[in-house]
Amino acid sequence: MSSSRIVFLMYHELELAGRKLCQSEPGYVRYILPLETFRSQMAWMKKSGLRGLNVGEALRYPAEPSVCITFDDGCETDVIAAAPVLSEFGFNATFYLTAGFLGTPGYLNASQVRELDAQGFQIGCHSMTHRYLSDLPEPELKREVLDAKLRIENIVGHPIEHFSCPGGRYDQRTLRMARQAGFATIANSQFYANSSGISPYELGRVAMLRDLTIEEFSATCHGRGLWKKRLQHQARRTGQRLLGNRAYDRLRAVLLGEPSQ
Ligand SMILES: [Zn+2]
Repeated sequence: MSSSRIVFLMYHELELAGRKLCQSEPGYVRYILPLETFRSQMAWMKKSGLRGLNVGEALRYPAEPSVCITFDDGCETDVIAAAPVLSEFGFNATFYLTAGFLGTPGYLNASQVRELDAQGFQIGCHSMTHRYLSDLPEPELKREVLDAKLRIENIVGHPIEHFSCPGGRYDQRTLRMARQAGFATIANSQFYANSSGISPYELGRVAMLRDLTIEEFSATCHGRGLWKKRLQHQARRTGQRLLGNRAYDRLRAVLLGEPSQ
């Protein structure tokens, strides 16, 4: 991949032997990689001469071949599983935290957040309660964006500049709110590589799925085949628009064989 375009990867919780995941529905587990899978991906990057960068570093679009690594949700595996592997390979990453989940079972607590920060990893914000931001009235949107930012800043003691949208959902109001709150970038989960010409408020990211082969991972890091994922993604988004987020989630749960609630 040329230095003018960088693929941003989106990871979530990692699966460790004997440890219960934060959630168990198929729609969640789909995005959960076993620790060993994650480690083999990082090893492949190292071997291929790709550097792993956080969002701030990636946006400087360095000349060396690079991939941006991000984690959503703020699960405790960020610090107990992902960080040690990243350190082993000399990579950095941005960890987007759901502020309201911190300190609850399976998620990072305040001292673990400070530990990640002190290790030199970049801390970002992933809303207060993980609601879809495009559905929210203004006061609740403010809580999800601004109050969440302040809560994480209180923990780490410095500004938090990077935001990622829960479920990839956002609209123009969301972008405006995040800018007003003082975020410098907003990441979504649309399948395109980013380049220096792109708005820092619409950074694409590629979701890492548990069944991704190392060949597919390699293609993704080099920005190959993203158009195919983009088409699938557009079809999904159209379904969401036609049905509404809630109805779409119910339909998806049925299709994935989740028990209806
Ligand atoms: Zn999330």
